[in-house]
Amino acid sequence: MLLISLDSLRPDHLGCYGYRTRTGVPTSPNVDRVAAEGVLFENAVSTTTWTLPSHHALMSGLPDLAHGVWSDGFGPTLSRVQLGEALSAAGYATAGFFSGPYLGEKYGFGGGFDVWKNASGVEEQLIAEGAAAASERAAGHAETPAPGGLQQAATEVSGKVEQSYHVRSSAKSVSDAGLDWLAKQQAHDATRPFFLFLHYFDIHYDYAPPEESFARAFWPDGQRPRLNGDRFFDRPEVEPGMSPADLAGVVSYYDGEIRWTDSQVGRVLDQLDRSGLARDTLVVIVSDHGDEFFEHGAKGHRQNLHQSTLATALVMRWPGLLPAGKRVAPRASIVDVAPTLLDCCGAVGKADFLASDPIAGLEPGDREHGMWGRSLRPLIDGAETADRDAYAFLANRFQDRARPTYHFALLTGRHKVVVTHRYRTVHVDDDPAKPVAREEPVEARGQVFDLVADPGETRDLSRSADPAVQAAIDRWSAAYARDGRLARWRASVECGPPPPPLSAVEVTILGQLGYATGSDGPQLPPHTKLFQVAPPPPPFPRER
Ligand SMILES: [Zn+2]
Repeated sequence: MLLISLDSLRPDHLGCYGYRTRTGVPTSPNVDRVAAEGVLFENAVSTTTWTLPSHHALMSGLPDLAHGVWSDGFGPTLSRVQLGEALSAAGYATAGFFSGPYLGEKYGFGGGFDVWKNASGVEEQLIAEGAAAASERAAGHAETPAPGGLQQAATEVSGKVEQSYHVRSSAKSVSDAGLDWLAKQQAHDATRPFFLFLHYFDIHYDYAPPEESFARAFWPDGQRPRLNGDRFFDRPEVEPGMSPADLAGVVSYYDGEIRWTDSQVGRVLDQLDRSGLARDTLVVIVSDHGDEFFEHGAKGHRQNLHQSTLATALVMRWPGLLPAGKRVAPRASIVDVAPTLLDCCGAVGKADFLASDPIAGLEPGDREHGMWGRSLRPLIDGAETADRDAYAFLANRFQDRARPTYHFALLTGRHKVVVTHRYRTVHVDDDPAKPVAREEPVEARGQVFDLVADPGETRDLSRSADPAVQAAIDRWSAAYARDGRLARWRASVECGPPPPPLSAVEVTILGQLGYATGSDGPQLPPHTKLFQVAPPPPPFPRER
């Protein structure tokens, strides 16, 4: 089995989802090929709109409030069932290669994998570049860093590391690592089933493909646009009022990153073909969220739960066992991917994870093998034709810590119900120096969209008298409001300590700069209740 995660990929920028570029050049011939030879889910969604929680949903089959990792500050997942563990227990050789910082072990990934490796090469490059600073210091040519400067230096190093992931290309390294592992595994024991996970980060902004030709393919007149995709998120010219021509120019670099990454996915698919493995390999390609280009006033992702970033690509191929060229209309969620893989390979019966799941308080029907997601095979073979409910949650604290927002969404039938709660941070005793703050509600807003009649989510139906709208709101309440399933779940679970504040590469670079850092920063005590830090959702706001 091969599971590929394409970071920040909007499905509507893939040919197989109907995307037509201005030059007619396809962005995604290889993903399109998998879709043509297999199954495409037309209405797939993530559980959120950023990398860390959505990958936990992918690996655990749980929505974010159930797996518990919805903030940078939480590493270990609450899940007792990880896809890697389940497949390892079923006899699979398992390996994962990733290229974004959020996929690291410190954030709780890698459980059950024989190999779990950052294949981006970014950190090795940064450390190699820092070697000069270290030798300067060793030779006595560098100044001793100011004692009080560690915090500032750590912030600068963190920013540099993050920026490097955004700028540098890593898709080729990921494919190289995956192909190398696969070749060795096949040479070692070709009879053993394998599970290979590949995470490609290059489509994530900045939009800087390794060669300009990948973007140039989408310039109608061959002229380089005024703005490229560098510093997409921070660049002030990339703003809601920018000209359509300038925005199209920036988007050509996003499409260029898709074409570049698709070409690297193609290398892996070609090798499966050449080796004969393709015939009996389930290939699943999924994205963790999209990126938005001001459809709702914002750019990038992790800002709201609109479909421009919540909708994901999902295609799968398994020659002879899944139909070819099938398009599935009922909704699928990223939490369904892990149960589908377990279902397809028959691993479920071999490992009864339900029995060891210590988390209480859910109806048994809510859990299948410890997961909330369900196999997608009934949707593929037509045994199930209705839309499944899907949950989405976003805690947006990263843009403005003083004014965090929380978004709780339920997609049910053709409707999507979203409650957005705005808070302000109040320092305890009005002392900003104290680290502990509480969040006070400022405003709650409830919206309902008809995703069929209004896929762009431009018309709020929350005041509609349509009984179907009311029924959707009631289902939202059953999930999130005081006694709802997810509200009870949140109150019943506990989470472990957060990841260390500095990554290993940050500690190394700070050391190269002459700073000594403690190995452990401040940590929450184990079993800190999640609901101490996540405010409960308000009831659906009736008056506005
Ligand atoms: Zn992502």
